[in-house]
Amino acid sequence: MVFSESPVSLRPSLQPDETLGSWLTRIALANGLSPSEFYPIVLPGGRLYRTDLDRLACDDLVRNLAAYAGAEEAEVAAATFRRWAGLLFEADDGRRKLTWLPWVGTAGGRTSFGQQACPLCLVEDSHPYFRMTWRLGFVTACPRHGILLIDRCPACGEPLQPLFLPPPNGRDRLIGCWKCGADYRRAPKVSVLDPGAVEREGGWRKIAREGWAMLGDYGPQYSLAWFPILWRVYRLLATGRFAFPLRTGVADRNRAMPRPENLPMVKEVERLNPRCRQALLSMADELLRDWPRVFVEACREVGIASRILIKDHADAPFAYRDPVVRHLSQPMRTMGADETKAVTRLLEGEGRIPTLKNLLAVSGVKAGAFADAAPARPVRPYGTHRYWKLDGVSAEVRAAAKAAAHRAGEKVGPWVEQVLRQKLARERRAHHIPK
Ligand SMILES: [Zn+2]
Ligand SMILES: [Zn+2]
Repeated sequence: MVFSESPVSLRPSLQPDETLGSWLTRIALANGLSPSEFYPIVLPGGRLYRTDLDRLACDDLVRNLAAYAGAEEAEVAAATFRRWAGLLFEADDGRRKLTWLPWVGTAGGRTSFGQQACPLCLVEDSHPYFRMTWRLGFVTACPRHGILLIDRCPACGEPLQPLFLPPPNGRDRLIGCWKCGADYRRAPKVSVLDPGAVEREGGWRKIAREGWAMLGDYGPQYSLAWFPILWRVYRLLATGRFAFPLRTGVADRNRAMPRPENLPMVKEVERLNPRCRQALLSMADELLRDWPRVFVEACREVGIASRILIKDHADAPFAYRDPVVRHLSQPMRTMGADETKAVTRLLEGEGRIPTLKNLLAVSGVKAGAFADAAPARPVRPYGTHRYWKLDGVSAEVRAAAKAAAHRAGEKVGPWVEQVLRQKLARERRAHHIPK
């Protein structure tokens, strides 16, 4: 090969847990090339138009990169999704969505935040690089530093994309935002919101390595079945008409849980940022406890019927489908219009809003009976929400804050709180004020 005479320094070695995309970029940069210039050298005739080589690297690319860098082929293959075949997914056709493994960069024309990073790990690396572990959607925290991972540029909100680089600026380009050049190491370091998250996610990473997990009454499960169950429960909490009542139920049951209103409702739940995913995963973990007892109780409380839980889910794992069919298939008691009106009047008389949750709580019947219920979260005009009791803040700053929160994948309330916390922490440090 033409490059066999290259000095060793031009072939940085694959770091522990490094992704193929990160490594390819580091090799390219060491040779004074961009990833797209280097790609056809290591894969003759190839053209780099894909943004997610960790998933899509072909066998030839893996083989040639291994030969080029003098690495074991198996070691390079483990820097791709091949390491999770048979553990997180059965087979990968390179097209469909993989549970817990969103694309890097774009998916279906929309941004996709499949590559996460710990800003403090990047600070400590002598040669910063991206890890495979940071690709797992159920991983939201760094076990070493106990902080939230980032999955988008702290300045412009674009996804992390190791194969796209910012213009040269004298710094390490791999860890600069490809769009605006911001250094990922300077991202805010935000403590985990759930102190149990680090340990829990360590357990989940172990499941992804070893291929099995225990699940309450259903005993040991293959990870291929267990992770889809975690996904279904997470999804139920993240989106759809039962998400909010279900979150409220979990938060009422366990006061340590984050408040349900602090999370944006989005349909593509893999796009949620690490903070939101962590909050929802804490709740999902709660619902998985003592499987299926807690889950069945929670579903009953908010009136979720089995047909909702297993529709479009012909391939649902047995340990999910069985308790759902068995415990949540009772026929619905429906409620006539008169009865609905009476309950609504009762609630209004008490000064409560007739939301679906309140109607269900008062009447004790299942959802579906209340076609006329107010939405779970009554919509109020912009600027009147609780978090906008910020007297004296100009409309201009409010609008800018709203846009910045949107870029960070947050609702305004939690975003404002995080900014204030950072500011207060800086002041404490500057004036040596104890916590
Ligand atoms: Zn870290
Ligand atoms: Zn940026």
